[in-house]
Order: sequence, then structure tokens, then C-alpha cells
Amino acid sequence: MPKRNPLAIGIDLGTTYSCVAVCQQGKVEILANDQGHRTLPSYVAFTQTEHLVGGPAKSQASLNPHNTVFDAKRLLGRTYEDASVQEDMRHWPFAVVSLEGKLKVQVSHKGKQRAFYPEEISAMVLAKMKQTAESYLGCPVSQAVVTVPAYFNDAQRQATIDAGAIAGLQILKILNEPTAAAIAYGLNTKSPEEKSRNILIFDLGGGTFDVSILSAEDGIFEVKATAGDTHLGGEDFDKRLVDYLAEEFKKKHKEDLLQDKKAMQRLKMACEHAKCTLSSCTSASVSIDSLHRGVDFHATVTRARFEDLCSDLFRATLKPLERALKDAKMKKGDIRDIVLIGGSTRIPKIQRLLKDFFHGKELCKGINPDEAVAYGAAIQAAILTGNQTPSMQNMFLLDVTPLSLGINTQGGVMATIIKRNSPLPTKETMEFTTTEDDQDTILFMVYEGERALTKHNHLLGTFTLKGIPPAPCGVPVIAVTFAIDENNILMVSAKDVETGNTSQLAISDTRGRLGREEIESIVQKAEEFRAHDVSQQGKIEAINSLESCTLELKRAAEEEEVLDVAAKRRMLDLCESTTSWLEGNPLAEKEECEQRQKDLEETWESICSATVLDEKAAAEGTPGEDPAEAAAEREDPSEGME
Ligand code: AMP
Repeated sequence: MPKRNPLAIGIDLGTTYSCVAVCQQGKVEILANDQGHRTLPSYVAFTQTEHLVGGPAKSQASLNPHNTVFDAKRLLGRTYEDASVQEDMRHWPFAVVSLEGKLKVQVSHKGKQRAFYPEEISAMVLAKMKQTAESYLGCPVSQAVVTVPAYFNDAQRQATIDAGAIAGLQILKILNEPTAAAIAYGLNTKSPEEKSRNILIFDLGGGTFDVSILSAEDGIFEVKATAGDTHLGGEDFDKRLVDYLAEEFKKKHKEDLLQDKKAMQRLKMACEHAKCTLSSCTSASVSIDSLHRGVDFHATVTRARFEDLCSDLFRATLKPLERALKDAKMKKGDIRDIVLIGGSTRIPKIQRLLKDFFHGKELCKGINPDEAVAYGAAIQAAILTGNQTPSMQNMFLLDVTPLSLGINTQGGVMATIIKRNSPLPTKETMEFTTTEDDQDTILFMVYEGERALTKHNHLLGTFTLKGIPPAPCGVPVIAVTFAIDENNILMVSAKDVETGNTSQLAISDTRGRLGREEIESIVQKAEEFRAHDVSQQGKIEAINSLESCTLELKRAAEEEEVLDVAAKRRMLDLCESTTSWLEGNPLAEKEECEQRQKDLEETWESICSATVLDEKAAAEGTPGEDPAEAAAEREDPSEGME
């Protein structure tokens, strides 16, 4: 019997729901769990006797709110101090704490207080997916492709890999969710009449909204732009319904539900159910026995009412759409395919808005929107384990860097080494040098961001290259390499080209790189500040250039043997006065620096040409002019200098 490669599964580890799929002989199957459900709520609950995962955890949430954990994906790879964690915490019934500088969720389990890392909570969801796959396939499963939002940073990706390891899964690849959806629809397939196709992925899930624009060419996907809202999704629609029905309850029964947490949780679950019904029916009823103080509650909600309650939220999806198109430098007509993913895209009004936005263009919705990501992840898993069919063979997948990456250089100027939106994996090298004579150590400060000055960007980490042999400033060549692998993990190294001495830094530190909200606000801010930054950068570059020109000409004057003593003195004096002027004028204007550099260069040129003339005259036996005098006769460039 031919030996079969081990199967790997594809997992969509979602904020509110997760899904697992497997691809065998080119056929993808979404795997139903022991309760017959094809998606699993990303919930974990702790009780006096056990821990529950998925549906059972979610359905007891109202009775056990403090020990039922959800939204763990919002905590992965983040610190306790993170602004988004602080904001989210205000809405969670479970406790998030900082223990020994590490973020954990605190619950009571079997009568004891216990704290879990977010990775451990996500690992419990992943372990449930693994178990679902194993009971379906009838064999152990140890490898998976797991998806994350395109804007997940290093720390969040790394935390997802760690969660996999805790669950006993080797993560073959962290795949971006929009890329997985595009793979699911086979949108990378070549067609003879078009060279490449642009795909828009509209992902509206339970808690997050993501728009991504990909382009597919020759089997390669490239993420062109992403935008979205980390706090917009089905749960917000549920909340609108909850608020509306709580108000109805108050009107009918003169009782306020808001303080009754258990009643609110039960109402929330009933509202989510009604919302889903309204995607296929024009009205839905909500019936909850003994909701509050023994009072039963019955109400009917029409689709029109629901659409009205959520109309601003629905419309809020259009802005990120426009931003993604703008970032990708595309017009609506450039989009070839529009793919719907995320359970909330089943809402008819959302589909209508999107279709109208694209002037009636048909939407891709052939695959269940809450399963498409796991579907694509399963195809990727099959490719990576050698279980692909011939049609999958030439599929390579590219993602991009969300922000530019670089290092701090003289004057606080950001030297960008890898540009924003560069396809991954990527590797770039740039050469740098020392700024002082005999400098034996360089401190490298690694930043991400779009601003010209590093003080406005985000510091990712620092490292030092030591043991540079003594040399004048500007002579040593230090090659700085930035390499980002396909999981978006950054490795920075600096190598002294002469000695081969190398120092490096892996950026997956505890502070982590920035989240999407921060990234979006950085990109936006950078646009606002661009004009100011450009002038600041120009100023610093002019100062740096004058400084190095002065040092260079000083060295040249000292080393030039044929120079007349007076000419040499004159040049050295000019260099010295420029240096002290620079020291006394750290805020010098660009134009002034440029003028002084021009004067320096012209003086040097005139001294050199006078020296050449003098040498020539001496060789011909005619008296030549004194180079220093000749230079002095020309307009005195040091005039006005201190
Ligand atoms: P996802 O995280 O992609 O699985 O999406 C989950 C969200 O989709 C939840 O808020 C669900 O309530 C919502 N959802 C699932 N099915 C439907 C449906 N038929 N109509 C409206 N929303 C739905």
C-alpha cells in the first residue's frame, strides 16, 4: 500500500467562533463537533467540577459569568497595559490581571482561584478542534495551519503558535484570514484573458470587521491593503437588539433588566438567535421564560426594525472599504471578485449595501461565510504536507508588512530598510557607518512606523554591535539586514563587513509590535504630519551633510601634502569655525547649512585648483600665485560665520 503523508488540519481560530477543516484528495470537509455544529464558540468556562469548551461553555455563561472566558483572541500577544486591553476589560465579566508582569485571566476552578495565560485559553479551543478532527479522521492529528487577521503583529502571531504548541499542535503556517478565504474560492487560478485579478475580502464576524484587498497573479497572492474596525461585528448588532428589547421589557413590565446580569446574558443569547433568524425570515420571535423576577418575556422583531436599529453600524462598514481601496490605489471597478466571510455577512442588508457600493456587482458567497477561512486553511495545510492535488501545485502565498521598519540614524532620522506593504518573506540589507573617529560600538535602535523622525515612531528593540576596529568615522562598513519570515517574525542583524563580527535581535519581545488600531492611527497620523516631517528630515539631513563634509575636508586638508601652509591653515580654520557654528546652532535652517557646505566646497576647490596652477607654474618656471592668497582674493566664504 502506498505510504500516505500525515494529514494536517486547517483551523480558523476566531474571536467569537472557530472552525476546523481538512482537505483529502482535493476535497475539503468542514468538521462537525460532537454536538453536530460546524463552528464552535471560542468560549472556555471553569466550574466547580470541570472546564467546558465551545457551545456548553457559552450556554452556561449567564449562570457563571465570572468564570466564562471569551474574546481570548483580543488578549493574545498583548500586555496588561495595552490600551485596547484596558478598554476591553471594562466590558468583560471575567477578570484580567497582571501577574509578575504577565497578562492572565483569573477564574475560580474547582473551588480554587486560578490564572491562565490567553495562550492557554486559546489552546483549549484549539485542543477541542484537534479532538474533533481526530474523532472524524480516526487517527491522531499533530499538525495544523492556523489563521490570524492580516494585521496581527509578531507577538500576536507568536502567541498563536504558542497556543498551538500547548494544544499539542505543530503550527505549519500562520496564514492570514483573507488569504485563506481567497484560496478557498480558488481565486488564484490563472485565466488566459487576464494577467492578474484583484480580490476584495469583506470579513464581518462576531466582534471584528476586516477589509482586505489581495491581488492574485500566477498563483501568488499579495495583500495590497487592509482596513477595518477591531470592534465592529455581530455582537454590536446583538447589543442593539438587547437594548431595544430591554427597553420594551421596561415599558411592558415597569422593571429594569440592566442590573440583572443573568437576565441580560439570557436576553443576549436570545437576541443573537433572533438576529440569525432574521437573515432568512422577515420576522423573529423572542421568548424567554421567567426572565426577571419570575416574569416571562415575549416579543417579535421584524427585519425592518432590526435593520433600522443597526443602520449606522451597517453603514460604518463602508468607510474602511473606501480606505482600503484608497490604500491599494484602486478604484471600485478594479476589483474583480468580492468575497464574503464572517457569519455577519449573512445579513441581507449588509450584502445589499456592499453590492450597491460596487454598483450591483455579484458577491462570492458560494462557501459558507463562517467556514471559508478554515476551508482555505485546510487547502494550505494539504499543500504544506504534500497532500495536494495537481491543481494546487503552483500555489505560493504572499503577505505584506503592515508598517515600514528601519533604524535610528544620526539626528534621529528613520532609515527605512523594509517599506510598508512589502511582500513577505522579505530580506533587505543597507550599509551604515560610524559617526565618530575610533568608535568601537554602535547601538542600533529598531523602529516601525511611517514618520521621518524615529521619535514619532514605535521602538521595537535595541541591540549593540561591539568590537569595531579603530578607524576614522565614516570608514567602517556595517551591513544591517532586516529579514521577516512568512509568519511575520522579524530578525535584525548588523555585521561589520571587515571583521565579520555580527550582532542580532529577534523581534518577538514581550512588548510586541503594534496592533492594528495603533497601526491605522500611525498611518493616518503620518499622512497628516508628512509635510512637517519632510522639512524636519531635510533640515537634519542638511546638518548631517554639512557635518560630514566638514570632517572630510578637514581630513583632506590635513593629509594633502602639496598644499601651501597658509592655504592649509585657512581651510582648517574654516572647518573649525563651521564645526563650532554647528555645535552652537543645533536648530540651524536647511538653507543655511546648504550655503555653508557650498562655501566650504568652493573654498576647497579653489585652493586645490590654485595648488595645481602653482605646481604647473613651478614646473614651467613661471611664478604662480599663492594659493592661500588666491583663495582669499575670491569672495570670503567664511564671512558671517562664527
Ligand atoms: P464568525 O466569527 O465569522 O463565525 O461570525 C460570528 C458572528 O456571525 C456572530 O455574531 C453570529 O451571531 C453571526 N452570525 C452567524 N450566522 C448568522 C446569520 N445567519 N445571520 C446573522 N448573523 C449571523
